[in-house]
Order: sequence, then C-alpha cells, then structure tokens
Amino acid sequence: MRDITGRNALVTGSTSGIGRATATVLAGQGAYVLITGRDQERGDEVVDVIRAAGGKADFLRADLSDASSADILAELALDTAGGRIDILVNNAAIGALGATAGFDEALYDNHFTLNVKIPFRLVGAIAPTMVERGSGAIVNITSMAGQFAIPGMAVYGACKAALGLLTKNWAAEYGPSGVRVNAVSPGTTRTPFVAPLGDALEGLAAQSPLGYVADPAEIASAIAYLASDDASFVNGVVLNVDGGRTAI
Ligand code: NAD
Repeated sequence: MRDITGRNALVTGSTSGIGRATATVLAGQGAYVLITGRDQERGDEVVDVIRAAGGKADFLRADLSDASSADILAELALDTAGGRIDILVNNAAIGALGATAGFDEALYDNHFTLNVKIPFRLVGAIAPTMVERGSGAIVNITSMAGQFAIPGMAVYGACKAALGLLTKNWAAEYGPSGVRVNAVSPGTTRTPFVAPLGDALEGLAAQSPLGYVADPAEIASAIAYLASDDASFVNGVVLNVDGGRTAI
C-alpha cells in the first residue's frame, strides 16, 4: 500500500461523498488529514472513523461562503498542521439544476464563489507555502459537466470548466517550483450531491460505456494517485474518472 506518512492534507467538503472518501483514503495511507465542512457533527463523525482505523485527522469547521472564509480556513489549516500543507484537495461544491432564463442571481453568485473563487483563494494562500518548500500537490475536483452540455447544468458546468482551466494555469504557474496541480473530473457518483437528479441519475450513468453510478471510493483512489509521488511527473492534467463518458 502507498505510504504517505508525514504528509499533511486539507480536503474541502470532506464530511460527505467524494471528499469524505478521499480523506479516508489519504488517512489510510498515513497522511494527517484536515477534514473541513459546515457541520461539526458530521465532521466529528468522519474524524472518529479515521481515528478508529488508526489514522490521524482533525475537523476544521468552515462555511466557505466568501473570499475571507477561504483565507481564514487556509490560515487555520496551516496553523493546525504546523505551517505545512502538502496536499490540497479542492472538492467542496454546489450544483443546482436550472434553466438559464430565471436562474436566481444569488444562486448564480454562490456557484461561482464556492466552486471557483474559494479554490482560487485557497490556492493563492497555500500554494506559496508549498513553493517555499519546493514540493506539494493540489488536486481540483471538476466534473464531466464542465466538458459538455448537460441540460440544466449550465452554471455548474461553467464553474467546473473554469476550474479545469485554472488547473492548467496553476500547473504552469507553480510547476517550476516543484508544486504539481491536477484535476479529477468525475462522472456520475453516488453521493448526496446527485440526489436531486432522482431517477435521471441512472439514465445519466447509462450514457457512459461502463454504464453504472460510481462509488465515491472509485473517484477517491484517482485523487489519491494524483496527490501522491506515483504521479510525480503528472502536472496540469484533468483526469477523467467517468466510466468513459467523455471518450464517446
Ligand atoms: P457532496 O454533496 O457529498 O459533497 C459536497 C461537499 O461540499 C459536502 O461536504 C458539502 O458539505 C460541501 N459544501 C457545500 N457547500 C459548502 C459550503 N458553503 N462551505 C463548505 N463546504 C460546503 O457531493 P460530492 O458528489 O461528493 O461532490 C464532491 C465534488 O465532486 C464536487 O466538487 C462535485 O462538483 C464533484 N462531482 C460530483 C459528481 C457526482 O456525481 N456526485 C460528479 C462530478 C463532479
């Protein structure tokens, strides 16, 4: 098994779904993982599960609602981890369905704040500390919805497309300092995020060659790979983990 003992990781939105699975995998490989989310109870539960399995984790409560909340989380995370974050996973996101006409303006702004501005601020605050050490790995979670049109997902998809391009820019910006930046682009994955899709979820999953709804662990393993030294020469990649949906 991969051993990343001694590395510190910050995973946003890690109280459920893909973020939680990622935190669990990283902790299982030896990392000290900072769990973040809005809900103390759910955060404590993830920490308990990781510690019960022999791992190291702490919960930092953060409602990522504006730029300053990202700055505060970055500062708190760096303080808690002794000034050193080796792995940053930008995972927290929202994705409301809606037609373009009449899409609520505040909801539109919330999407671009949480899904784009928060990763931008976290990278701006944490990547320079990685640059100082000459190493670090950042993994952004985008979406297949950022690569082609899905009805009702225009705003969400635009955010994810933006994060995909930020990934490439950050790979170019920080790569010369030994900091790798990549993204995982998941396909349909069984988490609370996709509950509003109802029965349409299976239909969406059926459009991929593998044809099923992924378990969060199948996305987490790809994230953990990109965060690890196994991906030492991988930089600026958006890795499709979508059952082949974007291949057809
Ligand atoms: P999820 O709902 O289980 O997780 C989203 C996380 O973001 C939760 O922990 C939630 O608490 C957190 N979050 C939401 N608003 C927040 C806020 N204001 N402040 C702090 N945290 C906040 O969903 P998931 O499916 O695990 O999503 C994880 C990532 O995967 C997201 O970036 C999502 O866009 C992406 N994704 C998911 C799918 C899928 O089918 N589930 C497909 C493609 C991409």
